[in-house]
Amino acid sequence: MEIDSAALRENCQRLTSMGKEGGRHCEILAVVKADAYGLGPAAVELMYDWGIRRFGVASSREGIALRERGIGGEIVLLGGFFPEEVQSLLTHRLTPVISTLDDFINLSCYTARAGRIIDYHLEIDTGMGRMGLLYSDFDERWRQEMAKHPLLRLQGVMTHFSCAESDPAYTRTQFLRFGQFLERSGLDGPTVPNILRHCSNSAGFLFFPELRLDMVRVGIALYGVSPTGDPDLIKKAGLKPVMSLKARIRHVKDLPAGFCVGYGATATTSCPSRIAVLPVGYAQGLPRNLSNRMAVLVRGRRARSIGVLSMDQMMVDVTEIPGVTPGDTAIVIGRDPGGEEITVEEVARQAQTIPHEILCSLVRVKNRIVT
Ligand SMILES: *Cc1c(COP(=O)(O)O)cnc(C)c1O
Repeated sequence: MEIDSAALRENCQRLTSMGKEGGRHCEILAVVKADAYGLGPAAVELMYDWGIRRFGVASSREGIALRERGIGGEIVLLGGFFPEEVQSLLTHRLTPVISTLDDFINLSCYTARAGRIIDYHLEIDTGMGRMGLLYSDFDERWRQEMAKHPLLRLQGVMTHFSCAESDPAYTRTQFLRFGQFLERSGLDGPTVPNILRHCSNSAGFLFFPELRLDMVRVGIALYGVSPTGDPDLIKKAGLKPVMSLKARIRHVKDLPAGFCVGYGATATTSCPSRIAVLPVGYAQGLPRNLSNRMAVLVRGRRARSIGVLSMDQMMVDVTEIPGVTPGDTAIVIGRDPGGEEITVEEVARQAQTIPHEILCSLVRVKNRIVT
């Protein structure tokens, strides 16, 4: 895996400037959960070096791993936390997202004991049905508890869209519910001038400029991949793919017509064929259902998968591509200098999943930063 640091840097700059469009001031929180969507922690270090100071992770384990690599700034625990994690959360200055009054009270005990201010975000469930307090459930008890614990400082209020890439009407319904919550809770008024209100992920950010509020939580778009599966969306926004995946051809051989290829003998050569074996398979995170569907770029041309992907190997048909030699580099995801390109979006479509899952599943592939 190669991480194009120039593209990542441009994406950071582009997203930051998009946040300022129309005279708004919308902060960017870089979502780096799942090892920065499989790109690895070095990508987070780069972003930190460039001045990104807000990160979002899924768990305290991920947050602690970043702190141990020297990542400063704010690290928001988007996925919530267990009560027994509170102590290490404080030690590593991770910012909790609270979904229940129990979370809140639990945290308040620790802050009182430690005598330290803790910033937190409150998550409101407006229709995702995942983390967060139901938007209609904020009541007097919350108000009282919040007033009682000044060491717990509300830094942000968030909700999460479930279909910003596919259903504008439902997204607006969620936004209206978020507005209702803010109004009823009093968290939208002049008494709380500094809290960050945030609701958008990449799709929300790209499709609904008017719903950007004070901050957006951008994951997939940061890495130059489209949340919808349509790479044009990303290109039009001026963002570039950051990740490419390459494999060196280990073996080339000629097979006669009518010869079976791969486990299960799912493919048979229809004519005398030349196949190349690549040392990459489902152990490296390529979904097995890409078998007989995906293509890779060899010498700038498409070579189709033939046979079922094995654990650590796959075969591609290079009959039509002259001069293929063991040791040649094949591009599994990425752009060839000649212009042919295989995008994460294309691979996701062939694997019948979303681009996010393809990126994350490549998390174990050894990576290096290139410029
Ligand atoms: C993962 C996540 C995001 C980022 O989503 P993308 O589609 O990758 O931009 C934003 N907010 C929350 C709460 C998330 O869990």
